[in-house]
Amino acid sequence: MAQKKAPHLIIFGPPGAGKSTQAKLLVERWPIAAISTGKMLREEVARKTPLGEQVREALARGDLIDDEIMVSTISSWLENSPEDRGFLLDGFPRTVVQAERFAEILDELERPLSAILNLELSVSEAVYRLGGRRQCYGVGAEEIIHVNDESAVSRCLERGGLLVQRPDDLPNVIVKRLNVYEAETEQVLDYYAPRKLTHTINAGGSPDEVAQRIGRIVESTTSR
Ligand code: AMP
Repeated sequence: MAQKKAPHLIIFGPPGAGKSTQAKLLVERWPIAAISTGKMLREEVARKTPLGEQVREALARGDLIDDEIMVSTISSWLENSPEDRGFLLDGFPRTVVQAERFAEILDELERPLSAILNLELSVSEAVYRLGGRRQCYGVGAEEIIHVNDESAVSRCLERGGLLVQRPDDLPNVIVKRLNVYEAETEQVLDYYAPRKLTHTINAGGSPDEVAQRIGRIVESTTSR
């Protein structure tokens, strides 16, 4: 039987497309080393580290963080991640400059990209998801729920959890983040287009439905 290869993946798409949810489901199924740059930055802010203090305001405004910071973060993360587990990047690269620098890093490490999983979602659905997104906080593992999901809301409250909204999920910041995506991040897809690694996936429907669509692609990537 052909040896299965650990894939080198980017999960891509607008805010609200479900990148982090899908990344989580993917690593439950395949032992891929994964990083979410947004989550990593939010944790730095919460821990009040020098990096957290440096990015706190830009993050709350929905602005992108400096390319240099992001490139060096990913570069050191990759150097420390076990090669045999492959990688899954959620939230990086987000600008063409990041994508260019990332290509140089991967060349040096001789770890070519396997696929870009491009989640596609309408603006109205993204606004609905982000506007209603809350974290059930204070009751163990982080759980993300939607305020219109009544049973999930009561489950959280009955366990003594708090429903916390991300500062960048406030209405004016949602619009800003979607605009930033359209103005800067979408161009990353154009950058990768000639390499023919991009798989566009409908991000509508339930997380499990989207996970099945993604699973089929990852399956074909790992058996190549
Ligand atoms: P996310 O959780 O992926 O929606 O990211 C939340 C926020 O983190 C973004 O709005 C940016 O402020 C910041 N961020 C995450 N990844 C990057 C990146 N690769 N480049 C610049 N800013 C980033």
